[in-house]
Amino acid sequence: MMKFAGLRKKFLAALTASALGAALTLGAPTAQAASGLDIIGSAIGIGIQASQLNAQIDQQVKRYNESEEGRQELYKAMRQKYGVSENYEYNAKMDRIMANLTRGVAAIDPTINDKPYLYFVSEQTSINAACTMGHVMMVNAGTFAKITNEDEIAAIVGHEMGHGQKDHPAKGNKKRLQRAVTTAIAGTAVGATIGGGALTSAITNVAITHSVAHGDKKMETEADLLGFDYMTHTNYNPGACAAIMQKFVELSIGAEQSKIMAFFNPSDHPDSGRRRDAYVKKLHEYSGKHVTAKDGVVSINGKTFTTVAAAHDMSSAERSYFVFGNLAAAYHNGHNKSAATVQNGTVMLGKQPIITPQAGDEDAYTLAERLNAIK
Ligand SMILES: [Zn+2]
Repeated sequence: MMKFAGLRKKFLAALTASALGAALTLGAPTAQAASGLDIIGSAIGIGIQASQLNAQIDQQVKRYNESEEGRQELYKAMRQKYGVSENYEYNAKMDRIMANLTRGVAAIDPTINDKPYLYFVSEQTSINAACTMGHVMMVNAGTFAKITNEDEIAAIVGHEMGHGQKDHPAKGNKKRLQRAVTTAIAGTAVGATIGGGALTSAITNVAITHSVAHGDKKMETEADLLGFDYMTHTNYNPGACAAIMQKFVELSIGAEQSKIMAFFNPSDHPDSGRRRDAYVKKLHEYSGKHVTAKDGVVSINGKTFTTVAAAHDMSSAERSYFVFGNLAAAYHNGHNKSAATVQNGTVMLGKQPIITPQAGDEDAYTLAERLNAIK
C-alpha cells in the first residue's frame, strides 16, 4: 500500500549509516531496532554476501507464503496493523463473497483447497483490498461503505485472489527485498551472517506494508483476467468486473479520488478505463460475440437493444454492464435459445434474468419484444 520508494530510501539510509561505520559495533541485531530494514542495513554494513542474504530471503518468504505457522503470523500482523472491523453487515458480506469465490476459484484451480484464504475486513476507510503472502487477504471497511453492490466487491476480491493464486505477493516481495539488498550490498562483501530474527522482521515489514502494490502491469493483467474467470464460476454477474472499473473511472474524475488507493491507481486514472475496456472484450467473447455495451447502450448482434438508465447509485454506463453481463451469461449458458418473457416485472431470457426496468428505462414488455426480434 505504501510506495516502495519510501522504504527503499529508508533502507539505503540505514545502509549508508552502517557503511559509514555507525553500525559496525552492533554485532547481532537487537530487538530495539526501529525496523527490520534498519537491521538488514546494519547487517550489510558488517558485510554479508548478497547470495547468502538472497538465500535467506527465499527461505523466509517461503515460510510466510507456504507454512501454516508463517501465514498465521502474517495474518495476525496484518490484523494488528490495519485493525479489524466488527461491522456485522460488512463481515457477513465478506464471508459470503469468500465462500462463493473460493468455490469459483476451486473450479479452475483446486490448489486453493490446500491453502484457503485467511481474510478479514480492516478498519481502514479508503476503498482498497490487499492480498499478501500466504493467501492473507483484507478488504477495507471503506470498500463496503462506498460500494454497496456485492457483485462489484466480489470483482475486486476476485482480482486479489488472482494475485494470490499466482503467488504474486511472494514474487513481488522477494524481488523487492532482493533488489534492495543487491543495490545496497554492492562493493561491501566482507562475509558475515545475519540473524534470522532480523530478516524475518524485515520481511514482515515489507509484507504488511506492501502486500500487492498493484504496480506490475503484467501481474495486474493476469489478476484481472483470472478474476473474470473466477466470477464466471460463481452466481455473481460477470459484468460486475467492467462495472466496478466504470465506477472508478467516474469516481476518479470527482472529489472522491482521494478515497481511492492503490487498487485503482489514482495517479493514472485512464488505467481504470483501459481495464474496463479489457473486461468488455472478455465479456463480449464470453457471450459468443453476440453482445456488447458502450456508453450505456447495450447491443445484441450489432443491433441496439436499449440504453440503460441510471439507477441504484449507478450511472447508465455502470448499470449497462450488469445488463450486458446477464445477456452474456444467457448466451454462454444457452438460454438465448428460449424466448424472452416478462416475469414479475423482470425481462427474462429463458431462465436468465436480464433487466428489471427502473424509472428511465423502457418498459419490460417493449424490451422483451425487442429482445425476441434481435437475439
Ligand atoms: Zn492488482
